[in-house]
Amino acid sequence: MAEFASCAIAGDEPVDDPADLAKEYPIVEIFHSVQGEAFHAGIPHVFIRFGTCNLRCEWCDTDFLTYSTMTALDILGEVMKYDCKRIIFTGGEPMLHDLWPLHRLLKGRNYNLSVETNGTIEIPDGLLDWVCVSPKDQMYPDVKIKQRTGDELKCVYVGQDLTMYDDLRQGFKHAFLQPCYMDAESIEWNGKNFAETEAVVKTNLGWRLSLQTHKWMGVD
Ligand code: SF4
Repeated sequence: MAEFASCAIAGDEPVDDPADLAKEYPIVEIFHSVQGEAFHAGIPHVFIRFGTCNLRCEWCDTDFLTYSTMTALDILGEVMKYDCKRIIFTGGEPMLHDLWPLHRLLKGRNYNLSVETNGTIEIPDGLLDWVCVSPKDQMYPDVKIKQRTGDELKCVYVGQDLTMYDDLRQGFKHAFLQPCYMDAESIEWNGKNFAETEAVVKTNLGWRLSLQTHKWMGVD
C-alpha cells in the first residue's frame, strides 16, 4: 500500500492529497461486470458497492449492512486491477458518503464516474459524470426526492400510477421502468411483473423498459 502511494507521488501519476487517500468508506464489494440494466446495459464497468442505506425496500437484493472499511487508497488499488475506466458507485446508498476524495483520485486518472442513487440526498454539481436516480417514493410516499435532475430516472414498477413522476421526469434525459424482480419469488410471480411492466411501457410514451439482464446471466 505504501509502495502504491509513493508510486503515485514519484512518477507521472497525479499527486494525491494524503487526506483523500486516507478517507475511509464502508464497502460491501468491488467487482468488474457488465451493467445489466437501463441506459448503459451491456457496457462493462467496475462497480463499487457502498454499505449502509437510509431506506429498506422489500425487494432489495443487497446485504448493505455487511461491509468492510476501506480507505480510498485501498479502493483505488482494487479498481486499478481492472482494465476498465468506467465506474459505477452503487449500494446501499452511495450518496450517504462524501465522494469528493474518491472523485479527485479517480478523475485524476481519467475514470468516468456514474452513480445509482435513491435520490433522497442532493448530489453536488460536478461530482459525477452520470446520475441515475431510482426513486422509491412508490413505497415511501413520505420520502422526499431531493435529487430532481440527472441523466436517467429508473423506476421499479409495483403497480404505481406513473403520473406520480410527471414532474420529476422533466429533470431527466431518459426514463426507464423496470419490473420488480425478487429472487425468492417464483418464475410465475416474476413473469407476471415482467408482463405488467411491458404492458405499461407500451401505453405510456416516453418510458423505456429496463430489464435486469445480469440476473438472468447469474452475475452480479
Ligand atoms: S434504496 Fe436501494 S439499496 Fe436502499 S433498500 Fe432500497 S433497493 Fe436497497
